[in-house]
Amino acid sequence: MSATVTETPLLPSVQKFLATEGKLLIDGTWIPALSGKTFSTFNPATGEPMCQVAEGQKGDIDLAVKAARRAFDKGPWRKLTASERGKMIWKLADLMEARLEDFAQLESLDNGKPVAVARVADVPLAIDLFRYMAGWTTKIEGNTIPISVPYAPGAQFHAYTLREPVGVVGQIIPWNFPLLMAAWKLGPALAAGCTIVLKPAEQTPLSALLLGELFCEAGFPPGVLNIVTGFGETAGAGLAAHPDVDKVAFTGSTEVGKLIAKAATGNLKKVSLELGGKSPSLVLPDANIESTIPGVANAIFFNHGQCCCAGSRLYVDKSIFDKVVSGVAEQAKKIKVGPGMDAQTDMGPLVSDEQQQRVLGYLESGMNEGAKAMVGGGRVGTKGYFIEPTVLVNTNQKMKVIQEEIFGPVVCAEPFTDLEEVVTKANDSIYGLASAIWTKDIGKAHRIAAQLRAGTVWINCHNIFDAALPFGGYKQSGWGREMGHEAIDLYTEVKSVCALL
Ligand code: ADP
Repeated sequence: MSATVTETPLLPSVQKFLATEGKLLIDGTWIPALSGKTFSTFNPATGEPMCQVAEGQKGDIDLAVKAARRAFDKGPWRKLTASERGKMIWKLADLMEARLEDFAQLESLDNGKPVAVARVADVPLAIDLFRYMAGWTTKIEGNTIPISVPYAPGAQFHAYTLREPVGVVGQIIPWNFPLLMAAWKLGPALAAGCTIVLKPAEQTPLSALLLGELFCEAGFPPGVLNIVTGFGETAGAGLAAHPDVDKVAFTGSTEVGKLIAKAATGNLKKVSLELGGKSPSLVLPDANIESTIPGVANAIFFNHGQCCCAGSRLYVDKSIFDKVVSGVAEQAKKIKVGPGMDAQTDMGPLVSDEQQQRVLGYLESGMNEGAKAMVGGGRVGTKGYFIEPTVLVNTNQKMKVIQEEIFGPVVCAEPFTDLEEVVTKANDSIYGLASAIWTKDIGKAHRIAAQLRAGTVWINCHNIFDAALPFGGYKQSGWGREMGHEAIDLYTEVKSVCALL
């Protein structure tokens, strides 16, 4: 941990926000939970409670779904032109930009990430996503289709498709990028003209509540966005199973993703899932060592490894293995671990006690199975949920640390000698979210990219996101793609209209 703490001063508006009890946003009004219950959000750097938030449950989800249904079926939202809808989304982005520092501070306090990172990554990416999706409102089009019906010879038809909003959507989001995950979900749903019930993660509800305030200020009609804070097993499960929800979108663990898919079968609502990963980085013998070392280190240590696409398996050609892996270990040693609100911090705490225990459990399991920590391997300090950036070697394909998602700053490094073999190893996972190839031979990189069973392949980079670039997983990493025009497909239904002329 850094010896001196340069605590970022809290904005007065953030202080005020934290001093106010968080409520549920239902039908354009902030109300307490029906039960009157609240829960605490904790500062992961200290483990201390920061503020109280309404604990929504099944009954509150019911109210929120009713409001969203009314807003979809009867409200002014559906009557707005695409251009008007786009302007509102753009206005929301402008309001967010004006409160960028508020969002960065709330994100750091609630999740633990460095405020400096939230300021340049999470918040600007979320704003950009809304602007990108604002542009889509006016570009959601169907086709005219020349049909030639064989059993109606001589008949003439005019056939076309319409892309219509899917309806009321339930969106359940995780704690690793709380604001950005809200944006990935809300942006395309709003662009398509859906109405929404959003369930933020119980660990990190704060930035969604501020977003809700700005949403009301931007002039969206009541009921278009409803926010129900609460726990997964109650509020989340209630939303996933609700019979009047047309679609559920979820980001989180593969385990919970399977529960969501099951819960959705009651009314066969549409489902999109962005789940876990165990993403490989392949370093070929000709890689540029100088840029590869910080690149593969950042692939795992960014956001404390709490990224579903973290580069958690590092396969390096044997000829350069020692050089690359000791370089990554050196980078790990240099990382300043400390509270997210400390301006000097490179890596904050994990989000919760539960996550810290989970990562420590994996470290123990790895060591018991014969892995060695070149650097790190334990917790930092006794207060807060800090974990040392860790590089494990002596791992093998069968170990839990190679097969399961750790979701912490822990990378497993293995040497390889045969390219074909390492591609097979890279694909030997239940997941298929992302992967990376480090080489100067771009032709070879593209050939390997075609062989990797993953939704994203980065070449000489990692963790590059853009509102225009689809993101999602093969295999058990999910269903569907978020961002880009693929995201619009997730929130629209296609209607075929066919007229006999
Ligand atoms: P993690 O295990 O990383 O905390 P989860 O997948 O449990 O991530 O959580 C992601 C989101 O899913 C959170 O908003 C959480 O409240 C919600 N959630 C957890 N369990 C359920 C469930 N059974 N049904 C619906 N949502 C859930």
